[in-house]
Amino acid sequence: MNDTYWTQALDLLQRFYGYPSFRPAQEPVVRSLLAGHDTVAIMPTGAGKSICFQIPALMFPGLTLVISPLISLMKDQVDALVQQGIAATYINSSLSHAESDARLRAIAAGEYKLIYVAPERLDTNYFQYILEHQPLAMVAVDEAHCLSQWGHDFRPSYRQIAPFIASLPRRPLVAAFTATATPEVREDIIRLLALRTPDVHVSGFDRPNLYFEVQRGVDKAAFVTHYIKAHADEAGIVYAATRKEVDKLYTLLKRKKLAVGRYHAGLSDQERAQAQDDFLYDNLQVIVATNAFGMGIDKSNVRYVIHYNMPKNIEAYYQEAGRAGRDGEPGACILLFSPQDTMTQRYLIDVSTEDEQRKVHNLAKLQRMVDYCHTPDCLRAFIIRYFGGTPEKENCANCSSCNDTTEKVDVTIDAQKIFSCVYRMHERFGLTLVAQVLTGSKDKRVRQFHFDELSTYGIMREHTLQDIKLLMQRFIATDYLRLTEDKYPVVQLCPSAYSVMRGQLKVYQPVPKKQVKTVATPALFDYLRSLRKDIATAQHIPPYMVFSDATLRDMCTVQPATLDEMLTVKGVGEQKLQRFGQQFLDCIQAHK
Ligand code: ADP
Repeated sequence: MNDTYWTQALDLLQRFYGYPSFRPAQEPVVRSLLAGHDTVAIMPTGAGKSICFQIPALMFPGLTLVISPLISLMKDQVDALVQQGIAATYINSSLSHAESDARLRAIAAGEYKLIYVAPERLDTNYFQYILEHQPLAMVAVDEAHCLSQWGHDFRPSYRQIAPFIASLPRRPLVAAFTATATPEVREDIIRLLALRTPDVHVSGFDRPNLYFEVQRGVDKAAFVTHYIKAHADEAGIVYAATRKEVDKLYTLLKRKKLAVGRYHAGLSDQERAQAQDDFLYDNLQVIVATNAFGMGIDKSNVRYVIHYNMPKNIEAYYQEAGRAGRDGEPGACILLFSPQDTMTQRYLIDVSTEDEQRKVHNLAKLQRMVDYCHTPDCLRAFIIRYFGGTPEKENCANCSSCNDTTEKVDVTIDAQKIFSCVYRMHERFGLTLVAQVLTGSKDKRVRQFHFDELSTYGIMREHTLQDIKLLMQRFIATDYLRLTEDKYPVVQLCPSAYSVMRGQLKVYQPVPKKQVKTVATPALFDYLRSLRKDIATAQHIPPYMVFSDATLRDMCTVQPATLDEMLTVKGVGEQKLQRFGQQFLDCIQAHK
């Protein structure tokens, strides 16, 4: 490829997107497409996959067809492109017949460079009319892991892509994009799309701007409440495993007067659409959701993702957690682990209709997820290794393992009291009753079983019931105690608990850590953010489509005084400069 061609790519990047350069992971992908090679790009969420095919699409003579699995994602991406002045449209089942036909005619007339379609629409007859008038330069398959049964999101309709391409009079360039890196998925993509000696680019899976944290044995509801309050101005997603959990947490947070929304498949279409819009448009900062939420969300300024329950595997976790900080600004990914989560996920695998081989495969993946929750080592390094990469260092200084400043305190005496009590209650009761006995509760059940006559009755009177339960949760997470897998789980002793009772083993626990507060936002940023919200409301688009948080922050740094200077801000392209530049300039001048 000659230099002029590359300079042209950079010019387009600046003109339409306002970015001066490609990211290191993007450049080889763009170069390989511009050189006309079929390409597979495996990049983590937020790495900037879309630009990798959009820039070549703008440069190729003819059309680029983008195949995307979700209607909502399609609309979002196309809306964002239109905001940037790029000729893009989509065709899917949300359009009326008349509207689809009108778009087909406009496409045939050469009015668009990029067309987004769902795989169900791939029928040569349907596209015949377009193809007679416009050559197809490239087919870009987004979320290409949907082709593979080994991916976590198999869509049979993706299997129609290869026959469609084969039926075309002239084979276009084919590009596939995914965030799933497992070898089986990669091989499936290459085989099932019938790619021709493709260039395969696997970019590093590290997302340096994300902070990873695992909390074991905390009071989850209290943690989430506190976190949301401490980050009141920031957008966040709280994922829970089931609809019931979502409803429960949502109600609890509402009762605490926190402005949260909820999203799961049990709500009506209208309720879900409303919740999603409220979140996208920054009317609601926090959404409590099942994993049904997010696939179609491109919102770039999500500042934290909390997992209230552990997900089924690392792929799912990284995809969901990766929705934080897509704009490259700091984002926090916090997982609240409890042993019950493992049982829930085991149960879900057990009752699933998948064959035995898949179940074994899924259980192995689950175990890796549980390992992540317990590793004392760098969480980032764990994830990078999981995806087949080699971490640059063993201590990232940006995860809860590496930043562990907690003090370990000797809790051997408390542990001995708790374990003896479990022992004396014959390992047949749940957490609450054991804790009640230790606090010396006068509860009916305590008296009914004559537990008030035990030597351990009331020996932890100075603690609250909640504190004791929390301590027991930690002992479960660290394998001194275990919970049975019954409907009413019973606390039992693990072998190490006996060593503690005999005085042969000491027990240390970290004292709860202080919340990490993200960097304070400067006042100018708040003014710009509020201007962005006003513009977005007037134009009926989500605020992040006006400018991302990263762009607003760069405006605060650059503090442009003229429109020309405004163009040097990352994320300000020509179209947006024309539409919003002056207003933001005025705002900066008024408040600097
Ligand atoms: P992905 O599809 O890989 O999850 P996106 O395409 O949504 O990621 O991009 C994530 C964010 O990164 C977007 O806000 C996008 O504008 C930004 N971005 C992409 N490429 C660049 C670049 N070269 N320089 C700066 N920001 C970029």
